[in-house]
Amino acid sequence: MAVKPEHGIECLFAPRRTVLDRLLVDAARKVGAEVRHGIALSEVEYAANGRIVGVTLKDASGSRATIGTDIVIGADGRQSTVARLVNARTYVQGCNASGIVFGLSHGYQGWRMMVVIAVYGAMFGVMAHLRRSLRPGMMAHATQDAVAGVLLYFIARS
Ligand SMILES: Cc1cc2nc3c(=O)[nH]c(=O)nc-3n(C[C@H](O)[C@H](O)[C@H](O)COP(=O)(O)OP(=O)(O)OC[C@H]3O[C@@H](n4cnc5c(N)ncnc54)[C@H](O)[C@@H]3O)c2cc1C
Repeated sequence: MAVKPEHGIECLFAPRRTVLDRLLVDAARKVGAEVRHGIALSEVEYAANGRIVGVTLKDASGSRATIGTDIVIGADGRQSTVARLVNARTYVQGCNASGIVFGLSHGYQGWRMMVVIAVYGAMFGVMAHLRRSLRPGMMAHATQDAVAGVLLYFIARS
């Protein structure tokens, strides 16, 4: 898809992943890479001196194989297993700030609710930071909304 040219850039393209991924895989194979699909890295192997000397790979059936390697590149995305396994340092974490922005965006409910939701947002941000996942915050949000809804129902009836 061609995008309007701006700022000295002649054109932009937004290829679908089905197109882009194939191009990348074909290019990697062309320069000698062995590409294996359906394999997940599950462990890294350390030598006594702390250097990584191998990885354990798991296939869809759950069977594991360990292979030796000189170098491991953790190009496995946002929830990188490699980064977690090597305790990689976090450079930027936006959970708390986005939680507070989430609260501020509830200004239409009045400033009291805005402050309450900003505090909730910050707490969910801390939870996401500690658990390295948004899931506990999402579950807490759903639980809080459900409990508040049930309480309001009974308060309205009484
Ligand atoms: C809905 C959406 C729309 C987006 N739109 C844009 C956009 O328009 N423009 C833009 O620039 N960016 C966009 N992004 C962001 C962009 O997709 C990411 O920044 C980019 O894909 C990150 O690339 P990556 O190679 O680091 O990780 P990924 O593309 O996530 O690749 C990581 C790969 O590692 C694999 N992997 C993960 N764990 C393991 C494991 N344990 N073992 C083996 N393999 C593993 C995954 O299967 C995946 O193939 C968008 C993201 C989303 C979710």
